[in-house]
Amino acid sequence: MSSQLPPPFSAPFAADDRAMATWLLAEAQLTPEREARIDRTARGLIDAIRRNDDPLGGVEDMLREFSLSTKEGLALMVLAEALLRVPDVETADRFIEDKLGQGDFIHHETRSSAFLVNASAWALGLSALVIQPGETPQGTIGRLAKRIGIPAVRAATRQAMRLMGNHFVLGETIEAALARAHAHSAGHARYSFDMLGEGARTRADAERYFNSYAAAIQAIGQRAGDNPLPDRPGISVKLSALHPRFEAVSRQRVMAELVPRVVDLAARAKARDLNFTVDAEEADRLELSLDVIAAVAAATSLSGWSGFGLAIQAYQKRASAVIDYIDDLARRLNRRMMVRLVKGAYWDAEIKRAQERGLDGYPVFTRKAMTDLNYIACAKKLLTLRPRIFPQFATHNALTVATLLELTESDEGYEFQRLHGMGEALYAQLAKGHPGIACRIYAPVGSHRDLLAYLVRRLLENGANSSFVAMASDPGVPAEVLLRRPSEIVGNSDGATNATIPLPRDLYQPARVNSRGIEFGERAALNRLVADVAAEKTSTAAVKRDAPEDVNRTVVAARDGFPAWSRTPAAARAATLERAADLLEHRSAHFIALLQREGGKTLDDSVSEVREAADFCRYYAAEGRKLFGDAQPLPGPTGERNTLQLRGRGVFAAISPWNFPLAIFTGQVTAALMAGNTVVAKPAEQTPLVATEAVRLLHQAGIPPAALHLLQGDGPTGAALVAHRDIAGVVFTGSTDVARSINRALAAKDGPIVPLIAETGGINAMIADATALPEQVADDVVTSAFRSAGQRCSALRLLFVQEDVADRMIEMISGAARELKIGDPSDPATHVGPVIDREAKERLDAHIARMTREARVHFAGVAPPSGNFVAPHIFELADARQLTEEVFGPILHVVRYRASGLDAVLRSIADTGYGLTLGIHSRIDDTVEAIVDRLEVGNIYVNRNMIGAVVGVQPFGGHGLSGTGPKAGGPHYLARFASEQTVTVNTAAAGGNAALMSGEE
Ligand SMILES: Cc1cc2nc3c(=O)[nH]c(=O)nc-3n(C[C@H](O)[C@H](O)[C@H](O)COP(=O)(O)OP(=O)(O)OC[C@H]3O[C@@H](n4cnc5c(N)ncnc54)[C@H](O)[C@@H]3O)c2cc1C
Repeated sequence: MSSQLPPPFSAPFAADDRAMATWLLAEAQLTPEREARIDRTARGLIDAIRRNDDPLGGVEDMLREFSLSTKEGLALMVLAEALLRVPDVETADRFIEDKLGQGDFIHHETRSSAFLVNASAWALGLSALVIQPGETPQGTIGRLAKRIGIPAVRAATRQAMRLMGNHFVLGETIEAALARAHAHSAGHARYSFDMLGEGARTRADAERYFNSYAAAIQAIGQRAGDNPLPDRPGISVKLSALHPRFEAVSRQRVMAELVPRVVDLAARAKARDLNFTVDAEEADRLELSLDVIAAVAAATSLSGWSGFGLAIQAYQKRASAVIDYIDDLARRLNRRMMVRLVKGAYWDAEIKRAQERGLDGYPVFTRKAMTDLNYIACAKKLLTLRPRIFPQFATHNALTVATLLELTESDEGYEFQRLHGMGEALYAQLAKGHPGIACRIYAPVGSHRDLLAYLVRRLLENGANSSFVAMASDPGVPAEVLLRRPSEIVGNSDGATNATIPLPRDLYQPARVNSRGIEFGERAALNRLVADVAAEKTSTAAVKRDAPEDVNRTVVAARDGFPAWSRTPAAARAATLERAADLLEHRSAHFIALLQREGGKTLDDSVSEVREAADFCRYYAAEGRKLFGDAQPLPGPTGERNTLQLRGRGVFAAISPWNFPLAIFTGQVTAALMAGNTVVAKPAEQTPLVATEAVRLLHQAGIPPAALHLLQGDGPTGAALVAHRDIAGVVFTGSTDVARSINRALAAKDGPIVPLIAETGGINAMIADATALPEQVADDVVTSAFRSAGQRCSALRLLFVQEDVADRMIEMISGAARELKIGDPSDPATHVGPVIDREAKERLDAHIARMTREARVHFAGVAPPSGNFVAPHIFELADARQLTEEVFGPILHVVRYRASGLDAVLRSIADTGYGLTLGIHSRIDDTVEAIVDRLEVGNIYVNRNMIGAVVGVQPFGGHGLSGTGPKAGGPHYLARFASEQTVTVNTAAAGGNAALMSGEE
């Protein structure tokens, strides 16, 4: 069958916006008559939307029941939205108490509270009618609580929660949903049912979703009636719900495991002749989704069925190419397919991801009008591809609907789609003028607990300033504004991009360029990188070690190089570092190959590390220009000029670890150099090649050999370096024990007292309470504890989970850990590579053996039999004190705690004496604030993973046993490498203060 398939989908991931605008603007041209008809139709639809006085059905009843004003009802909706995140009843009550009872609302009405700052919720359609400028949900609920008391507010909040659930979810079970659908439309409307959920993290999740899709298909099929397709109900399926690692790098596995599952479901849908739509998800999953869709479509068991289809997002620049691909696929398979055209639901997430990954461009448009234009262009294309393609236009935008009506010659051969709970008035009006047009309702099914992710998307949609739904519900927005054509808004190709959204590369401008990354979801880019890395020749020759006797010669050479380098202007030093950053990016494949071969790093880790090294170079260059450029004038009395300048101290010893052999090495060295010091760098003995190449690159960039020297060796060589009389400063990253011995050695020296900048380890903890989202916790725990085989200073070692939710969370984390691939780091599919050496493996294996005896084993991964592999393990401790030292590997320790015992948890974290990183997963702001206030930890991450600090964004470094500070990649770092000098010139020394005398009155 596969020979029938088209070649894998390929299109530029982030095409040029200007070129696209030129094409789209040309596509959008219509005659004035046709534009006038669109105006008339759209105006009629908008009037109907605005006449609709209960856009959130049932709100009125709630208001009456609790004698609430509309404003108060809305504020409760906001509270309810947050409450939906809370998994169990008990915690939900505590959550409400926390929000209402502890005075947050009542006594601090104006304090911003992140859980309520979701202004989108506040803008739930009605808001513009009743909310005055400056009013907040907090204030409203505070006053309400005073008036009717907290118990009544609690009851009303629950009611609001049910209402929101009811409004956006058709039923908690498929049977309930089918019954409601039937009652609503007497069987006339088309439905596509969607099973709510967060996407599978574990095999068990995927199995559960599969079963629920299968059961739904059967139930839908039983009540599907006798009409032929397309006039039949259907189901919408998310591929991410059916596989725990639905990601581009796991393609092989996804194709082998997921495709048969989807074929199985699709065959069940075919048996009932239903519409089976694969929902569109994130842009990095597009190519993989199309691979799966093509493979499924080609299954012989599905031949002759025209109900299979997919959703295509018009905000993606590749949408038109996807349509071509699907058309090609359908043609080759001699099959009809159904295509739902949407604008796209993850726009904000796409922008964030592209920025985080340092991509050259965005895969989505940055102006909504461009999305609107693309939507129409794609719609036109779909219409021409009928009948092979059956277009399904999903939108709640009256102008988009009116434009589509103008483009279609009849009411047949396509359908509209809307979401349950949205667009009712629009489509009711449309049906009046066009009774023949079909409209399908996308109907989420599931418990209110599973509603969150879906609801947040819808609330964002309703609240976004640019959203049609939000503007249409605001009577302050004139209809003319809603009728403005996207082509008019874009104007010309200069208007293609949003000026307030910088390209990912320009995120930190004007200070510096962001480091260049890569999207693994773009097959061409990933394949290119993998091939480039494979083609790199890296030395296999043993690196010659310097003997302790070589130390003196090297330090003396560095001392001799100091006068010239320290007098090199700061701007010239900075330019050299920027050249180094460019070179690093240019030779990234070479360094990735080295990091993989010498350091055992996965592809993802290696790319991040090269980026971090480049960021260090550019960040210190930018900071250095400010700090070491012109002397800083200081205020003082007239007749005197005071200036402060920073200069290098002398020779810095830079001693770096093996776990970030490029990034930390480069960071230390470039900071010291930027501050005007010369450097003797001693890398870890496990990773000499990376250091050799990094020094070569820095020399090529223009750092004089006399300013930067490399000393290869082990502990004794490092000790001799530190002890040398000419060392003016030491920067060290490594264990607390070695930092202490360096400190003692420095203290024992005669001569000047030498500063030490030390960054050491930590027993890093994460606290997850019962309000946290288990899926998010699972993602973040697995990343924090197991990525880089746990060999990051920032890695999570000790997870505290609130006991009420501990079983579920630990099960999900363990299930997610089970899905990690351990093995050869040069394989892009590998998530966990080897640990650094045999010694490390033996130490970790011994710890695992001890924990297996002393703790409860939740998960024991299986490592490949040969090589230095240590598989992820999860142990539950009865007491956090069982973990007495940093265990530098993929081993997670979990401790349960009682909600009332949070204080003891914080005490036990503080008692470790470390303070490097901390994770908090909680939706209760007071909890987050209290923890942040209480614990002196260097890097705290809330509701995200706790590794991967970005230079200049999360300056890195801790307190106590974790290091001296200042933070690497932060604004206070460079100054610590410098000495300070003030110069005071008596400008009146020549006999008078000429400047004062000649000043004007
Ligand atoms: C039946 C149905 C099924 C759906 N299925 C899916 C699906 O499978 N996958 C999916 O992703 N979405 C899906 N959606 C959601 C859909 O993407 C949103 O409902 C849609 O984006 C809203 O479009 P609109 O025409 O109603 O509103 P409009 O207000 O006209 O458009 C809003 C949309 O414009 C885009 N946008 C907003 N700001 C910008 C900007 N600055 N630059 C560029 N674009 C911007 C976003 O896509 C945003 O959602 C579905 C919607 C419906 C009705």
